[in-house]
Amino acid sequence: MVNTFTHEFNNASFKGKTSFPVGLYINGEFVKGKKGQMTDVIDPTNAKKITSVCVATKEDVDITVKAAQKAFDTQWGLNCPGNQRSKLLLKLADLIEQHEDEMAALEVLNTGKPFHWAKDGDVRMALDTFRYYAGWADKISGKVIETTNEKFAYTRHEPIGVVGQIIPWNFPFMLLSWKVAPALACGNCIILKPSEFTPLTALLFAKLAHEAGFPPGVINILNGTGQNVGQPIAEHMNIEKISFTGSTLTGRKIMEAAAKSNLKSVTLELGGKSPNIIFDDADIDKAVNWASHGVYWNVGQCCCAGTRIFVQENVYDEFLKKFTEKTKTVQVGDPFAQNTDVGALISDIQYNRVLDFIDSGKKDGATVHYGGEKLKKEGYWIQPTIFTNTRPDMKIVQEEIFGPVCVIIKFKDDADVIRQANDTSYGLAAAVFSRDLDRALQTAHKLNAGTAWVNCVNQLHAQIPFGGFKQSGIGRELGEYALENYTAIKAVHVNFGHTI
Ligand code: NAD
Repeated sequence: MVNTFTHEFNNASFKGKTSFPVGLYINGEFVKGKKGQMTDVIDPTNAKKITSVCVATKEDVDITVKAAQKAFDTQWGLNCPGNQRSKLLLKLADLIEQHEDEMAALEVLNTGKPFHWAKDGDVRMALDTFRYYAGWADKISGKVIETTNEKFAYTRHEPIGVVGQIIPWNFPFMLLSWKVAPALACGNCIILKPSEFTPLTALLFAKLAHEAGFPPGVINILNGTGQNVGQPIAEHMNIEKISFTGSTLTGRKIMEAAAKSNLKSVTLELGGKSPNIIFDDADIDKAVNWASHGVYWNVGQCCCAGTRIFVQENVYDEFLKKFTEKTKTVQVGDPFAQNTDVGALISDIQYNRVLDFIDSGKKDGATVHYGGEKLKKEGYWIQPTIFTNTRPDMKIVQEEIFGPVCVIIKFKDDADVIRQANDTSYGLAAAVFSRDLDRALQTAHKLNAGTAWVNCVNQLHAQIPFGGFKQSGIGRELGEYALENYTAIKAVHVNFGHTI
């Protein structure tokens, strides 16, 4: 028997209960892994154990692939029409909506992020994503291509089969939706591995997907580590597609495993070091508010965080003063309190990693203009931190920190800032602030980034593609573009008279 996790929430944001089995969700059932292993789940606000969940091994991956393949060949894939898939996805979305406070509270418990962000950001975006792709499920079609009067071909956008999906810990439920919803809409069966740090909302999701009535084997959730579950998924000969979100380092391993096994197709959403450009004709007060959101949202654990803030020299002092004042007002604390802006970092590993970056900035000679200190005795808390007087070669300017830390850099003119902004191995996102639309758009077009925001940051919508240039990734999630990740194109040639 698999244990059930039950938790009563009783705080200002949510009073209510959550309850779900902590097993692996394989072939429509919650089960223990073959080796019966468990792992602890930690509350990052106090470093205490929340519960333990079952974890999988390679053997469980093999069992799951077989179940998913069977579902694909019998009840899903080409055996289930798009309107039926759409209906199930909509039913699932309705169930998630009925449990949205519970889902948000669970995400808060596991990640330490503020409740209002978890609910209005993560869970609502996930809902939008499920409904958006439910709308696509019966509209996926190919083209008719005429060649001569006696021949034509038509293309079919067929589901790929069993798809592996691996996600990180920063937006666990939201990123689950970005992967699962388009894959199911296109008719694939999925094996999703959440991060070992944040397995809980995926389990509540599995319970709701079960209730929605998806055939067994269509949706499978395997908790566990990258080494024991992620790697076997990436190497599996009967998984035809892998979609990964996480660090660039792990992305390389996934691609290598795919190349060395069955050449499965790969989609990668990786790291970033996004520039945020403040021109001298920007509305400085608005730019300060957006820039603060750009750095401190999700305590900086955001792949598109605008952590390199470039400010034109003649407004640099004004911006720095106002941005510092704004940073001082950022409320760090209890994620269930309604006025909290910033919560805890995810883990001791991440906490120490961010502190090491702060140390390296100090050692390299940058100025800690504000913050830079640990907060609280228990849990993983760091002050919002601003560095100035940096050099382009410093680690804090080049590498992704994934914490509430930014560098503020002066620039001269448009050409200078475009050169500096593009001077990175990443290319995920960028932002430009200016009242001159010509200037803003011309700059946006010259930035090497998969997303460019004009007079805003961190805007994500189910219908707009998201993904990276350069070492920030391969392929796009969200929007119509994501359907390409989960379909294989077949051309059927028809001859009605041509003889050879
Ligand atoms: P990570 O790469 O360490 O882990 C991500 C996932 O990969 C986890 O589930 C982990 O268990 C798994 N994994 C680890 N090693 C593996 C292996 N060898 N084979 C298969 N799977 C393996 O990243 P993280 O620390 O969880 O997340 C932070 C990173 O994610 C940051 O670099 C961030 O920029 C990136 N990220 C990118 C996006 C995006 O859309 N581009 C979104 C969120 C996070």
